[in-house]
Amino acid sequence: MSSCTEEGIVIALRPHMTSVNVDPTAKTITAGGGALWKDVDEAAGKYGLATTGGAVNHTGIGGLTLGGGYGYLTGRHGLVVDNLLSATVVLADGRIVQTSKDSVPDLFWAIRGAGQSFGVVTEFVYQAHEQGEVFAGQAIFPFEKLDSILDFVHWFHNHGDGDQSLTWAFIAPPPHNVPVVFCILFYNGPEDKARAFFKPLLDIGPVMQNVGMMPYDNINGLMNEQQDYGARRLFGGSNFVLPVDKTTVHDVADEFFKVVNDEGINDGTLIMFETIPYRKVKETPNTAMAFGNRGEFYIAGLLWKWRDAARDAQVRQHNRNIQDLIKEKMGTKDIQAVGHYSNYASGGEKTEALFGQNTARLRELKAKYDPNNRFNKWHNLMSS
Ligand SMILES: Cc1cc2nc3c(=O)[nH]c(=O)nc-3n(C[C@H](O)[C@H](O)[C@H](O)COP(=O)(O)OP(=O)(O)OC[C@H]3O[C@@H](n4cnc5c(N)ncnc54)[C@H](O)[C@@H]3O)c2cc1C
Repeated sequence: MSSCTEEGIVIALRPHMTSVNVDPTAKTITAGGGALWKDVDEAAGKYGLATTGGAVNHTGIGGLTLGGGYGYLTGRHGLVVDNLLSATVVLADGRIVQTSKDSVPDLFWAIRGAGQSFGVVTEFVYQAHEQGEVFAGQAIFPFEKLDSILDFVHWFHNHGDGDQSLTWAFIAPPPHNVPVVFCILFYNGPEDKARAFFKPLLDIGPVMQNVGMMPYDNINGLMNEQQDYGARRLFGGSNFVLPVDKTTVHDVADEFFKVVNDEGINDGTLIMFETIPYRKVKETPNTAMAFGNRGEFYIAGLLWKWRDAARDAQVRQHNRNIQDLIKEKMGTKDIQAVGHYSNYASGGEKTEALFGQNTARLRELKAKYDPNNRFNKWHNLMSS
C-alpha cells in the first residue's frame, strides 16, 4: 500500500508486515518492519522474554529501531540497535539484502542509527532476554518538591546499577494548569528491593502514584493514553549531565512553564529528563555503528502538543530555545559525543549535529547504497 507525499511516496508496512515470531530456544524475536512495540512485547512476553523497546508501545518498531532506540531495558541490555542481530532491507535499486555483522557489514553499520535513510526494512531480528515481572509506575509530585526530587535523582545517578530508570518530567496539565513533576519509576527486579530503592523518592509524598509489580509489557502501555494519536505534535531533544545545579533546573522549568502557559498548550506538552543509566550504552564505542550518541549524559525529550496550526512557527521556535537552554546549562561538554538523539530531532538539524564523527562514513555509504538519495525524508544525510 502506498500514498503520495511531497516529492515522494509513503509506503505503509502496516497492516501486512506486522508478524512477530519468537524462537525461545535461540532467544530471538523476528518482527515485520511494520510491527508496533506492543506486538513485539506481547509476543516475547508469552515466552518470558523481552528485548529493549520503546516506552510507548503504539510506536512503530521501524523508525525507533533504525534511529537507535532507548527503553526501560537500556540500562541492562543497551539500545535497541545494540540488540539488533540482522535486518532485511529493500534498497533504493530494488535489491533485497539481508544484513548483519557478518553479512554486508557496512550496510549493517549504517542502518543501526541512520537506517531510515538507507532503505525499507521489511524484517528485524532482535536478541531476546529472559524477563520477569517489573516494579514500575507513575508518581506525580507538587512542583514545590522539585529540590527533594533532584536530591533523589542525584542519589539515583550514583547508586543505580542499570536495572532501574527514572524519568522526571515537567508538565502543567489541565484543568488547573498547575506545574507538577511527573515521574516514571522502573525497577527490573523483585518488589522488596524495588520499594527499598525508591523509598526516598516515594517518601517525598506524591499526590498520585500507581507503582507496583506488573508484567514487563504493561509498563510500555502506561503512557499510551497521554501520548494518544491526533493533534499537532513536535519532538525536541537535548541532553543533561548529573549532578546538576538545582537553580539551573528551576530556570529551565520557569522558562518552559512560561512558554506553555503563554501559548495555552498545557494539554500534553512536557519535558522529560530520562535518567536511563548509560554504563551499558557506553560499552559500545561511538564509531561501532552510525548511532553516535553515547557518553556520560542522559537524554531529554521535549514533547509539544497543540491544536492551532497558526501556532506552528512559535512552537518550533520555543522548542529550539528550550532545547538550546537545556543543552547550554545542563548538557555535556564532551565534544566526541553528539548529545542529540536523532529520533528526538525536530527536523532541519545539521547532519553533523546528529551523527558527529560518523557523518563522513555515513555519506560514503549513502553514495554506495542510495546514490540518488531516494530515502531523504527522515534526515537528509546529504544536506549540510
Ligand atoms: C509517543 C512517542 C513515544 C516515543 N518513545 C520513544 C522511546 O521510548 N524510545 C525511543 O528511542 N524513541 C521514542 N520515540 C521517538 C521514536 O523513536 C521516533 O518517533 C521514531 O521515528 C518512531 O518510529 P515509527 O516507526 O513509529 O515512526 P514513523 O513516523 O512511522 O517513521 C519514522 C521514520 O522512520 C522510517 N521508517 C519507519 N519504519 C521503517 C522501516 N521499516 N524501514 C525503513 N524506514 C522506516 C519512516 O520512513 C520515517 O522516516 C517516541 C516517539 C513517540 C511519538
